Amino acid sequence: MTKDEIRRYLEFYQDLGVKTVFVQAASVGEAAPAELVVAAPEPEIRREPGPAPVKLPALEPVGDSLIKILEDIGDCKRCRLHEGRNKLVFGVGNEHAKLVFVGEGPGADEDAQGLPFVGRAGQLLTQMIEGTSRKEGIPLERSDVYICNVVKCRPPENRTPQPDEMEVCGQFLYRQLQAIRPKAICALGSTAAKALLGTKEGVTRLRGKWQRWRDIPVMVTYHPSYLLRPYNQNAKKEAWEDLKKVLHYVYD
Ligand code: URA
Repeated sequence: MTKDEIRRYLEFYQDLGVKTVFVQAASVGEAAPAELVVAAPEPEIRREPGPAPVKLPALEPVGDSLIKILEDIGDCKRCRLHEGRNKLVFGVGNEHAKLVFVGEGPGADEDAQGLPFVGRAGQLLTQMIEGTSRKEGIPLERSDVYICNVVKCRPPENRTPQPDEMEVCGQFLYRQLQAIRPKAICALGSTAAKALLGTKEGVTRLRGKWQRWRDIPVMVTYHPSYLLRPYNQNAKKEAWEDLKKVLHYVYD
């Protein structure tokens, strides 16, 4: 196994909340149940005595797909956010998209329709995707990309999702990203950046430079809701620059 493969395994288990990995002669067995999610610092490898032929299970549930993930989410009551939801907002777009946009969580319009980014911020996101690609000579429509959020249920009063909510729902976001395996991810705002990069660093510092989720390049940029506020108009130009970078990287 290469170092990179081992790193990916450990990151996968870390996402599932597994803190310790035992290497032993017997097969490690089934992947941890999806519900097993706790705060996970760096996983450590503990080696048991004796020879240790390593047989690790598959990284993702075998044959994972968006439909399977949606089925696993089901009528989700894993966190408190389900209490106020009308519709769960899973994601929309091309299952084979080369580019995925990740937002924070549904707002009122999204909660009513069960679709991400359909309100004012969503209209701006559509303009950003389609307007920028048109100007750059890239034939791309919103339906060509995939759009989803860190949490699938609307937080009350549109508050920021709490760490435990992000952690519980994050497992499904990670599975969505693994199932699609896009060429790049665009993280919209600090919640998406935090969920993907595990950093508390703000958007202003992260944006404009490529980051990485597992082995997939991530560009962090401003959330469209932030760009809608009249006093943040300077950030619009930067967001367009970020998006241009992403579009050329993915589609050139
Ligand atoms: N804001 C988000 O982060 N996601 C949506 O789906 C809508 C608004």
